[in-house]
Amino acid sequence: MKVIDHLRSRRHTLFSFEILPPLKGKDIRSIYAGIDPLMEFKPSFINVTYHREEVIYKERGQGLLQKIRLRKRPGTVGICAMIKAKYDVDTVPHLICGGFSREDTEDALIELNFLGIDNVLALRGDAVKNEGHFIPERDGHAHAEDLVRQITGLNRGKYLYEEEQEAAPTDLCIGAACYPEKHPEALNLATDIAYLKRKVEAGAEYLVTQMFFDNRKYFDFVERCKQEGIGVPIIPGLKPLTTLRQISFLPKTFHIDLPEEYAKGLVGCRTDEEVMALGVEWTVQQAKELQAHNVPSLHFYTMGRSEALKAIASRLF
Ligand code: FAD
Repeated sequence: MKVIDHLRSRRHTLFSFEILPPLKGKDIRSIYAGIDPLMEFKPSFINVTYHREEVIYKERGQGLLQKIRLRKRPGTVGICAMIKAKYDVDTVPHLICGGFSREDTEDALIELNFLGIDNVLALRGDAVKNEGHFIPERDGHAHAEDLVRQITGLNRGKYLYEEEQEAAPTDLCIGAACYPEKHPEALNLATDIAYLKRKVEAGAEYLVTQMFFDNRKYFDFVERCKQEGIGVPIIPGLKPLTTLRQISFLPKTFHIDLPEEYAKGLVGCRTDEEVMALGVEWTVQQAKELQAHNVPSLHFYTMGRSEALKAIASRLF
């Protein structure tokens, strides 16, 4: 079932979460171990992230460097198919522009369609580590908006080559990302929202936010989007902080701000257990307020760990 149909037919705020493919070499059981404890809360859909390859250079002697492409977390589409088959739950594979030509994208979409996956979250992806800014693949997309347009085209039976015009249209529900605290590269929130509107007009049927820790930012953002004519559901993304390490890298990586009260508490934490206890409390309070506002779904970023989310979900659903 499509995410948009879950959202349209809902009677209350839904539960959904995002997982990461396991590191290369681990098997699917590590994914099941993370999902099993959360199934009792009846997630409406589960997202699986996509991880672009990293490029490293190895010294090969005599001044020669070998360029090596490494993919640490492969398998997004296969994992979605396995989860769907095992739990009978809808899955949402993430698809990015980075590293994909238009042909690669079309192939990936055809694969999703074959596997009976009804959804896709269309993203640009970030710049690769040793490049200062995002560089699209040759004949690939520079912005998520263009990826959304390609998927919309395929949903209308528009394949890249005329020879395939007889091929059946796909029927994928398209989601996209948004940023209540603005995307880090955007000049300001107004330009970011203007581009977001184009992404929605290109065919994104709903949006999922970057993590945020202050509900006011989400409410203001939703209101502003409405004023600018963005009428699709905006799903809040929540991240329970669980480790001391996350406190230092998440705000920097995702360009997000922590509210004063929460920051004060976190500064006093000395162990991961303390961070997690506080993280669970903060997220429960955030989630309860969002539920009271009847948000479409509470979408949680697990980053591969389910203990904190289980503790939270048991108090909400
Ligand atoms: P875009 O919508 O293309 O926006 C990127 C920037 O370009 C913004 O500053 C925007 O204002 C600007 N812009 C947009 N359109 C245009 C235009 N037409 N012309 C000029 N400027 C424009 N990354 C992964 O690699 N894998 C994942 O699985 C993944 N999952 C994510 C899930 C969610 C819910 C979120 C919020 C992010 C996720 N990301 C993921 C990160 C995402 O790829 C990065 O944040 C990336 O930098 C931007 O992606 P986007 O789809 O928002 O890009």
